[in-house]
Amino acid sequence: MYIDLHTHKINPHENLIAVYSTLPDHFPENHPENWLISAGIHPWLCNKDDFAEACDVFETLPETPGLNWNRDYDLAMRQWLEKLEQLAANNKIIAIGEIGLDRVHNKDMETQNTMFEAQLRIAEKYNLPVIVHCVRAFPEILSLRKIYHKTPWIIHAFRSNVEIAGQLIGHDCFLSFGEALLKSHELQMLAKVIPLESLFLESDQSELPIEELYAGTARIMSLDLSCLQLNIIKNFKKVFFQQK
Ligand SMILES: [Zn+2]
Repeated sequence: MYIDLHTHKINPHENLIAVYSTLPDHFPENHPENWLISAGIHPWLCNKDDFAEACDVFETLPETPGLNWNRDYDLAMRQWLEKLEQLAANNKIIAIGEIGLDRVHNKDMETQNTMFEAQLRIAEKYNLPVIVHCVRAFPEILSLRKIYHKTPWIIHAFRSNVEIAGQLIGHDCFLSFGEALLKSHELQMLAKVIPLESLFLESDQSELPIEELYAGTARIMSLDLSCLQLNIIKNFKKVFFQQK
């Protein structure tokens, strides 16, 4: 059994449980049973001054076809937060995300921070784990983790260094790796020392089959594939179903 911690594609596969990440107003009503859903307002959209531009970018992504949002920032955010809270209250989602901070794709850090915190409060209110997107904002993420620590956080597409990894794990965060792990020597060095109980794997937007990511990771970590799979299943149950 494979667990894909974060994907934007619905691609049925019987040996796979996937967490499909979407926007609050793009919830897929018909999805395979083994596709679990997380929803959140992506940090790229949390941009007050260039909201129209951020929408333009999103509307052309393959995973959000046919979107046509209004360009009123305040109205859009209010509606998305309401929708997100409804999904959480009605047990439609198993996590909030991806949400977070991105210093490279969006310069409006203040708005990103406001929206991130608004969504973290929803996660804590409904006891939901959080799938975090973080690009060059780890000090801010760590400070917020100290305030919002009631539910697990998983840092998706982790690509930073061993020091940041250690600090995040020290604050009970999980790290999820994607295809970049198979290409980066630095990430491979990190994978050799990261505790197995803090690890997830994900496809995100990659075309690489998840089986190949697992096989490559098992090789890097000098583990049997089945041992890697069992550990990730254990982490999955712990984070999403609160099983020890
Ligand atoms: Zn993603």
